[in-house]
Amino acid sequence: MSQLKYRRILLKLSGEALMGDGDYGIDPAVINGLAKEIIEAQKAGAEIGVVIGGGNIFRGAGLAAGGMDRVTGDHMGMLATVINALAMQDALEKHGVNARVMSAIKINQICEDYIRRRAVRHLEKGRITLFAAGTGNPFFTTDSAAALRATEINAELLLKATKVDGIYDADPKKNPGAKRFDKLTYDEVLARDLQVMDTAAFALCRENDIPLRIYDMGREGALMRILQGEDIGTLVTR
Ligand code: UDP
Repeated sequence: MSQLKYRRILLKLSGEALMGDGDYGIDPAVINGLAKEIIEAQKAGAEIGVVIGGGNIFRGAGLAAGGMDRVTGDHMGMLATVINALAMQDALEKHGVNARVMSAIKINQICEDYIRRRAVRHLEKGRITLFAAGTGNPFFTTDSAAALRATEINAELLLKATKVDGIYDADPKKNPGAKRFDKLTYDEVLARDLQVMDTAAFALCRENDIPLRIYDMGREGALMRILQGEDIGTLVTR
């Protein structure tokens, strides 16, 4: 256990991360691969909270663009995150580890309610704790939920797993010469107007001084190596 640099972390996975090469839903092989990475870190002694997005199923803004009431759309988006969290719980439990879904919206027949003290207890017991339904409020994102839960559980690091291997000074897909940063401060991110997380999420991390690392989730073994102190992706700190 002592070889870990971070003991308690909050991992944010986007819903899109679960789609693999598809354009909707959950790819079982992909979610299984992610589950294995999380379990490897848990077995090494890390206490892991996970926030999963819902963009692989529904996003409120997208539904609103199609004519739906925005709040209803956001409710559907939050329920999508519950579906993803249940799928991840199942993938984790298939490997024999304990996992718990805690929802910010009451759905008691399906999962526990989010209660901070109970969540911390789960983490202390080594249960992988999946925070579902975002913040429970419309007009927020799961990035905000990740920043909020990371703050509440006193996470030592917020990890945002994406399809890009860090923060660049320009979009690397459009600019082949784009430069990746190893480290940034919160103020540099703001001054350069870099798109890291949505504004509310970023403000929470900054105000509460939570180190944030952006990394490529497709890189096998990256989660474990980050927890051991390796500099993978981009780290944002004060
Ligand atoms: N959502 C919400 N409140 C929250 C978190 C999420 O209303 O606190 C809704 C919102 O509609 C969002 C959707 O759930 O678009 C899915 O979350 P998100 O877009 O953050 O997922 P990701 O992009 O990470 O897959």
